[in-house]
Amino acid sequence: MSDRFSVRDCVKVYNTADFYKLAESADYIRRKVHKEAQDIVTFVMDRNVTYTNICACKCRFCAFYRQKKSCDSFVLSNDEILDKIEGLVKIGGSQIMLQGGLNLSLKLDYYVNLLKIVKNKYPQITLHSFSPPEIDHIARGSGKSVDYVIKALQQAGLDSLPGGGGEILVDRIRTKISPNKINSRRWLQIMRAAHKIGMKTTATMMFGVGETIEERFVSMKKVRDLQDETGGFRAFIPWPFSPANTELSGYEQADGVSYLKTVACARLFFDNIKNIHSGWVTEGIKLGQLALAFGANDFGGILMEEKVVRATGIINETNVRQLYNIAANAGYKLFRRNTNYDKLEHIDANHPMITQEVRI
Ligand code: SF4
Repeated sequence: MSDRFSVRDCVKVYNTADFYKLAESADYIRRKVHKEAQDIVTFVMDRNVTYTNICACKCRFCAFYRQKKSCDSFVLSNDEILDKIEGLVKIGGSQIMLQGGLNLSLKLDYYVNLLKIVKNKYPQITLHSFSPPEIDHIARGSGKSVDYVIKALQQAGLDSLPGGGGEILVDRIRTKISPNKINSRRWLQIMRAAHKIGMKTTATMMFGVGETIEERFVSMKKVRDLQDETGGFRAFIPWPFSPANTELSGYEQADGVSYLKTVACARLFFDNIKNIHSGWVTEGIKLGQLALAFGANDFGGILMEEKVVRATGIINETNVRQLYNIAANAGYKLFRRNTNYDKLEHIDANHPMITQEVRI
């Protein structure tokens, strides 16, 4: 008999466990998983570069996309993209997340060319870019297989895939909130294809989109099953849907307790994924701080210039000084990491990023 948490166990724990006992259990597991880093929380210095907001997918939960004819639609030029990367390089950042809408005018050669230009100029920058819906879009638009496309992008300089577009990996929910987006099987197929060629990825779950609690854990189970098969996920990133300014504005946003319980259950459930993120983009920095006591060990990125959540009217920004303060006040040391979650440097009170108030 397996001693792993099942979906059923998680539903039971989520619905009935004492809130503080749940935190204690998740923290216990976190300390076991991160034996050598029990009092450490990490973050990555990254920048989002949204290369286009033109998107044919029209997800009902998205306030960001535009149609091509819209007066505020855009596709950044390569020079504009390079300028933004230069901004990250100047502050010592290490990761770029190129992400955009599913723009029918952009084919495989555009992406390959862009990656080559960026990698050629900034070989030190890790390109953690293009989520599965973009990979699917490139494959379909170019008449190529997913395997072919991922390999071509990897050869052009793509290092790693973010887990965007995962939302809830249950098609009953996906057809309601984003009927034109890839289904759960395709999302998993793309992640499997990346893992197969040695490309690591993350798994993101946007929850609070009308799923039952059971479906939330069924979605997590699909990620855990694939991880058993490939070992390619570096982290699991749960974050609550922010409904304002979207077609789903009638939905109620998951509250703080649901968020913290979801993070804690994720820590209990994922015995095969090392890192669980504490988010702050939709949750706010204070709730992100509390998530550290519920099993989370990583703040994710600084996300310089995040645009997609911002379009819903939620503007939570952070900087290294703030991350330092909330980590220190919660009893943790703050470390900057790379995309592979290797710790690069300790950010203490005397670090120039704190003393010189470097604003990201
Ligand atoms: S969430 Fe992404 S795929 Fe969906 S409409 Fe917005 S930009 Fe397009």
